[in-house]
Amino acid sequence: MAFLLLSGCSASSRPFDLPARPSGGVFQTTSQNGTVLFETPAELMGAQVVAEAIDRYYDKAAAALGCRRNEPVDVWLIPGWRSLGSTNQDRIIFDSSPRSLSYADLTLVHEFVHWHSEGSVLEENLPHSMIEGICEYIAISLVERGRAFRLNLYSELLEEAWARGDALALSARLSIDKAEWLSLDRTTRYELYALSYTIVARIGLDRVCEEARIGPLSVDDMLRLACPGEDGVESLFKS
Ligand SMILES: [Zn+2]
Repeated sequence: MAFLLLSGCSASSRPFDLPARPSGGVFQTTSQNGTVLFETPAELMGAQVVAEAIDRYYDKAAAALGCRRNEPVDVWLIPGWRSLGSTNQDRIIFDSSPRSLSYADLTLVHEFVHWHSEGSVLEENLPHSMIEGICEYIAISLVERGRAFRLNLYSELLEEAWARGDALALSARLSIDKAEWLSLDRTTRYELYALSYTIVARIGLDRVCEEARIGPLSVDDMLRLACPGEDGVESLFKS
């Protein structure tokens, strides 16, 4: 299974997750929406790629989500970071190794959505898995590069989970909190990305946000909205 192109996000508010702040150089965006910090001159080109992604997608991610943080974002380039991207309080950490840079836009849009949703009513009222689903939904909607690959992979992961008889167990895991999400093994985490993306796509992003603004939603509420009537969760696993 090819996982290399997935965003592999690890949204976290735990301060001990932080690497050292890069201090070798700073790349400013033209939009004033953010700053890219890096350690070595070899990372300058990566910093430019990330700055362009901020210019292109930061505002669009906020518009799609319907909420926005006012302060500009700091993106720290950390080659070989433990995941492709992490949003941690006041910065986004981005793995600037070459394989990660080729799909920087998908990863960064996913993280911009975490960034804008931090502390919002959406984060308050939705299970963490659904925030991940929203991040994936907006990233896949806005970024064309890698989209078809990712959608095919998600269909494949869900079909395989169904064939193994894991559909109900996987659906039950949608209720885990942010800390548990971070401790998932990689395969399960990507299966949950696939499932949460599919739920958000099925309900519709606007409706998910609208319902979450009214009050808290459980995973069962989300599944009922995604699979009305006699449909059951089966349909989520079959493309
Ligand atoms: Zn994420």
